[in-house]
Amino acid sequence: MRNASIPGAHGRVRPLTLLGDPVLHAPCDQVTDFGPELATLVEDLFATMYAAQGVGLAANQVGEALRVFVYDCPDDEDVRHLGHVVNPRLVETDGVVIRGPEGCLSLPGLEAGTERYDHAVVEGFTMTGEPLTIHGTGFFARCLQHECDHLEGTVYADRVTGWRHRRLMRQAGRASWRRPGMPT
Ligand SMILES: [Zn+2]
Repeated sequence: MRNASIPGAHGRVRPLTLLGDPVLHAPCDQVTDFGPELATLVEDLFATMYAAQGVGLAANQVGEALRVFVYDCPDDEDVRHLGHVVNPRLVETDGVVIRGPEGCLSLPGLEAGTERYDHAVVEGFTMTGEPLTIHGTGFFARCLQHECDHLEGTVYADRVTGWRHRRLMRQAGRASWRRPGMPT
C-alpha cells in the first residue's frame, strides 16, 4: 500500500558538520548501493535540513561522504523545488553570473556575496536508481551549484574573494549569533 508521506517525517535530525571538518573539504564517494540505507540517509537529510531551516543539504554536512543532496528551495519566481539527487553531475551552467547573498548550514549565522550562474542543470539518480534531470534558475540554480560544490569538497567561502572572503573568515572565527536568510 502506498502512503503519501512528507519527506523527512521518518528521518533523524543529525548533527551538522561545520567549516573545518575534513569531511566538508574532500570529494565525496559515488553511491553504489541503492538500498534501504540510502533511503534512510535521504530521510535524515530532509529531517535535518528542515530542523535547521535550510533550503538544501548535502550528505557530507551530516558526516556522510556520499554523493547525495536534498533540497526544498524556491526560485526567483517563487516556484518551490523539492527533491533529492544521488550521484549528481552539474552538466550545464549558463546565463549571467550573479553575485548574491549565500549562506550555509555549515557556517551558521553567516552569509556573503557569492558569484553563481543564473541557470544550472543537474543530472543524477533517485534513491531507487532512476535517472533524473533537474533544471534550476535564479536562487534555485544557486542552490544546485552550492550543493554540487559540497560534494566536491568545496564550500561557498572558497568561492568568495577579496575583502568579502577576509570578512567572512573573520566572522567565521567568532561565535555565530545571527540567523542566516536561506542557508543551504
Ligand atoms: Zn552549504
